[in-house]
Amino acid sequence: MAQQITAVLPDGSELELEYRSTVEDAAYEIGPGLGSDTVAGIVDGELVDKETPLTEDCEIEIVTEGSDEYLQVLRHTAAHVFAQALQRHYPEATLAIGPPTDDGFYYDITGPDLDEDDLETIEAEMAEIIEADYELERVLRSRKEAFEIYEDNPFKQDILDTEAADEEEVSFYIQDDWQDLCEGPHVESTGKIGAVDLMEISASYWRGDEDNETLTRVHGTAFESENDLEEFLENRRKAKERDHRKIGQEMDLFSVPEHSPGCAHFHPPGMTIRRQLEQFIRNKDDELGYDEVFTPELNKAKLWKPTGHYDAFKEEGEMFAWEQDDTEYGLKPMNCANHAYIYDQGQYSYRDLPVRFSEFGTIYRNEQSGELSGLLRVRGLTQDDGHAFIRRDQIETEITSTLEVIEEIYDLFDLEVLYKLETKGDDAVGSDEIWEEATSALRDSMEALGLEYDVEAGEAAFYGPKIGLDARDALGREWTIGTVQLDFNIPERLDLSYVGEDNEEHRPVMVHRALLGSFERFMGVITEHFNGNFPTWLAPEQVRILPVSDDNIPYAKQLKNRYLGEFRVEIEDRSWTVGKKIQQAHDDRVPYMLIIGDEEEASETVSVRDRFENQQKDIPIEEFQSHLKKETAEKRIEPDFLE
Ligand SMILES: [Zn+2]
Ligand SMILES: [Zn+2]
Repeated sequence: MAQQITAVLPDGSELELEYRSTVEDAAYEIGPGLGSDTVAGIVDGELVDKETPLTEDCEIEIVTEGSDEYLQVLRHTAAHVFAQALQRHYPEATLAIGPPTDDGFYYDITGPDLDEDDLETIEAEMAEIIEADYELERVLRSRKEAFEIYEDNPFKQDILDTEAADEEEVSFYIQDDWQDLCEGPHVESTGKIGAVDLMEISASYWRGDEDNETLTRVHGTAFESENDLEEFLENRRKAKERDHRKIGQEMDLFSVPEHSPGCAHFHPPGMTIRRQLEQFIRNKDDELGYDEVFTPELNKAKLWKPTGHYDAFKEEGEMFAWEQDDTEYGLKPMNCANHAYIYDQGQYSYRDLPVRFSEFGTIYRNEQSGELSGLLRVRGLTQDDGHAFIRRDQIETEITSTLEVIEEIYDLFDLEVLYKLETKGDDAVGSDEIWEEATSALRDSMEALGLEYDVEAGEAAFYGPKIGLDARDALGREWTIGTVQLDFNIPERLDLSYVGEDNEEHRPVMVHRALLGSFERFMGVITEHFNGNFPTWLAPEQVRILPVSDDNIPYAKQLKNRYLGEFRVEIEDRSWTVGKKIQQAHDDRVPYMLIIGDEEEASETVSVRDRFENQQKDIPIEEFQSHLKKETAEKRIEPDFLE
């Protein structure tokens, strides 16, 4: 009798299938409509061709044109279309690999020396291939046949010798008279591609290894429609314009000099913003009942051994560690162990919990130099870190109050938060019971607050379930920022305890949380999100006074000292025309300008101009002052005096 397979569907229901049924067969079992709409499948988390046979029990999801993954499939096909177009013009081009990426696809090649103009020629050829609407046909070929096809291609041979080493037969995708060794999946035909764009050329190495041959990487993207492509290109252009490194330089916020790779220097204007953020978070930590601590960056490496972090970080080469006087030292890669140490110095009863420590903890991780980028990919960062040691029955209240504050915070920055619940994976420590209890506490907290979230099954770190936070910015980009994570592992490994009502020793649960994540990354994100136009409460310079002539400078100073002493105010005292002074203040992204001439001086008023170029005369200074107090205290997102 044929063996049966159980496939678990996304809604948790189960499907009994015959051994070696394909993904498409499974879709037809679910319903004939779904069967005919099937483009590909996701089997145990992996995107696969719809003809893939199922050989063991699995989790399965059907990909149709409506699925999130469809674009990825479409872009893979676009990579093939690129390669075909390339080889029509440059038959000598050798193809390495061409996968889809987050925002498009690339193909690594050798042979022709391509420039921007060549990309246009290839793009035009791609348009013809799309227009011709060639069907993509999947065929299986023997290894021998495959080696014959690729007798002049060392990269495909390498793939046949490594990834495909155990395969008797390998799959090719054919379109028209062109083919590629490929696992797929692909869309039905080239005509499914609505729009393509070849974006740039860069260099890469075979297998990403500098010791291997240098390849040319052509980056492109593809969409279902011309409109989607236009929108994407527009956002890409905007993103380049508001690159935080560019704005950081224009506003003198920070620098990452060659002498400290991946470690940012905050200049006075940038530090002003950071201080506002620090103060803001300190207040939130007070509200949440955290006690601030300070722990050193330099520790003996043995500190991180019992927690398991030493192995995790050291092995990955992510920790800065060295021998000194026969002892191994390191810079802390996280604050958890130091906080757990402080907890362990105390003696707590069930009534004392939660015990909460917060710290603006500076940590170091040895990210690869090629990955470093401004404030967003760094080696040195300061987290707004916090650890709460709580009883099991306190999980839900603790998480709920933390999430409430997180919602409040991101609302102030006009950032939408996307929540992800990461659940138990295969390598989990701790009993099923505590995982279930903790996971449902996280779930209940989010549901009680009416938050929507995605479940990422099996994605949690081994030590406990986690709520991941992504912020969606003004350009629709998503950034991983804060986190709320439960931990059963460290308390166990470090033998942390508290005395329960029963006078027995009990194990606390540890909560790791960061509200903004790190000040570096958060600054990078909001600099781009606001395009440097920070809310008035954060702006390094909140008001600039523009005297019409040098004679008005004394009155300007008087206004500043008497009414605006608590704000960050500068006086433009260069002998420029008012027009030029206004232009400069706009360029410097100052939220408010106060223009004062003889008229204003005589009537003891000011002329207020904001960064949106609204302007109004005859404003009594007290009126502006009291508005500014309110606007900054309420942390409003835009200067709104003149609305
Ligand atoms: Zn392919
Ligand atoms: Zn931690």
